[in-house]
Amino acid sequence: MVYEVVCTKSYLDIGLLVEKNPKRVLGRASTFGSKTEYGVGEYGGVELVKWVNTGVYLTIDKWIRISYNKSTDEILDMLGIKKGFKMKMQEINNCPFCGGEAKWNEKKMAPYCTECFATIPAAKGFCSPKDVIKSGYKAYMIGLWNRRKEFK
Ligand SMILES: [Zn+2]
Repeated sequence: MVYEVVCTKSYLDIGLLVEKNPKRVLGRASTFGSKTEYGVGEYGGVELVKWVNTGVYLTIDKWIRISYNKSTDEILDMLGIKKGFKMKMQEINNCPFCGGEAKWNEKKMAPYCTECFATIPAAKGFCSPKDVIKSGYKAYMIGLWNRRKEFK
């Protein structure tokens, strides 16, 4: 069984996402500190923190070995995770109208609000998905969405 390595938005903390609902994130292994049934401590208040997915999956054993008495930066280096890369690609601000969580809509190629369904018109139709990736269209659209507050 493997679990995804996750980081806090600022990449100051790193953990292993072992349960999604309710969320449980194991911390770095250390000589001291309390332990869960997984043999390593876990973060408290994880629902209040925005976690960034890294796309790196590990078993609990490997997580404990890799993270043992290591700093977040050392672990990031060992796993080859680039700071901020995923964040820049995926970070979409909350809805400027209702504050709801915004997500990327693959079909419409635009960010939208999961609460009030606000969105921004996409330039779909004149470019294929391949072009979209090449030209950074997604980043462009997310940029537009994220800047919306300023134009209100
Ligand atoms: Zn909204």
